[in-house]
Amino acid sequence: MGTSLTTDSAPASSPGVLPATAYDVERIRAEFPALAQEIHGKPLVYLDSAATAQKPRAVLDAVARFNERDCANVHRGVYLMAARATASYEEARKSVQRFVGAESSSEIVFTRGTTEAINLVAQSFARPRLAPGDAVLITGLEHHSNIVPWQLVCEQTGAHLLVAPLDGRGQVVIEEFERMLADPSNSGRIKLAAFSHISNALGTINPVERMVAAAHRHGVATLIDGAQAAPHMPFDVGAIGCDFYAISGHKVFAPTGIGALYAKGKHLASMPPYHGGGEMIRSVTFEKTTYAEPPHKFEAGTPNISGAIGLGAAVEYMMALGREAIAAHEARLLAKATEALAAIPGLDIWGRAENKAAVVSFTLDGVHPHDIGTFLDGEGIAVRAGHHCAQPVMDHFNLAATARASFALYNTEAEVEALAEGIRKVQEFFS
Ligand SMILES: *Cc1c(COP(=O)(O)O)cnc(C)c1O
Repeated sequence: MGTSLTTDSAPASSPGVLPATAYDVERIRAEFPALAQEIHGKPLVYLDSAATAQKPRAVLDAVARFNERDCANVHRGVYLMAARATASYEEARKSVQRFVGAESSSEIVFTRGTTEAINLVAQSFARPRLAPGDAVLITGLEHHSNIVPWQLVCEQTGAHLLVAPLDGRGQVVIEEFERMLADPSNSGRIKLAAFSHISNALGTINPVERMVAAAHRHGVATLIDGAQAAPHMPFDVGAIGCDFYAISGHKVFAPTGIGALYAKGKHLASMPPYHGGGEMIRSVTFEKTTYAEPPHKFEAGTPNISGAIGLGAAVEYMMALGREAIAAHEARLLAKATEALAAIPGLDIWGRAENKAAVVSFTLDGVHPHDIGTFLDGEGIAVRAGHHCAQPVMDHFNLAATARASFALYNTEAEVEALAEGIRKVQEFFS
């Protein structure tokens, strides 16, 4: 828990009060062993945190401590190691509760990640509520993991998808989203609205409070895909008012294979289990099984204990650093990156939302995004090239792919300059 490099976080009520110098990025970088390496003989410039983020010592140590000292199954053994494992696992759940702002830790279900969290809601919440002619409302901004689970449940139930459109800057047309909810022909038909907090492909930040309020005015439950918001901005599920919120561990500096679903307690109480097995039962006979209380009802089988402990350590690390301070640092990086890249002739930035996280999706005239990615790798710079698991977003702009630089709490202004310099070399090479 915690970290030695605490720079006290600014009070949530007064964002931006920290002077830039209070955020000691070099000291933060020293906590991330992976960042110290060289790639092809060049210092690593890691600009792919939207795909997966690097891990700080606090996380690596928490995972190692469990494996080296406390490795036992949870909620079972009577011996000390098992008690320690259970305590650490449930402590991690409380850390996630604080991180997302849930009222109770019983509203936090550990999952494999955002994808599994959304599938859980699709199958256990949406499926029993959907009938032929009903609908699930999503937006044109979604990651495949907030599209495909809804398509599956629609196929299973005879419901259909409604998709709120994007504008030219890559923002959801909120008036259209609201109009779809208010449309009399959809009245009582839309059972759930599911949308991202931040787009991984473009960085667009959705006005989620407004979207949740609009859905609730029409009695529609809401799920937010928070995979990208969790590492980049403070938020509070109580203030947002959403019914469900999904996050991935590996996007918030924790291990892969762990994530969490926040769900309002009243929903969890009424939802059938997602998976069946051990850990999720109260009693089992061949005639009848009764289930454990939430959240355990939704955590069948031996969970990813070390992953959950790593996730707890990761969100504690972020909270100690100060989430307002992280967001302010990343806003500086985004402004600098946007300015530096926009100044490069022949470069187009895709996604120009007014409210945007530190993601820059771009293309270069005459150079395929994969060639950009491969060339930059030779310079030690890791960027993503492809459709970013958001093909409909690419289709919206008539693109097959973009190159994407995504920034996180450990990136520096010097790395932004290295990126711009690397892109100039790409242009020279391919001209
Ligand atoms: C990464 C991501 C997902 C999927 O998360 P997994 O960890 O792969 O389950 C979903 N939505 C967004 C916006 C993402 O960035």
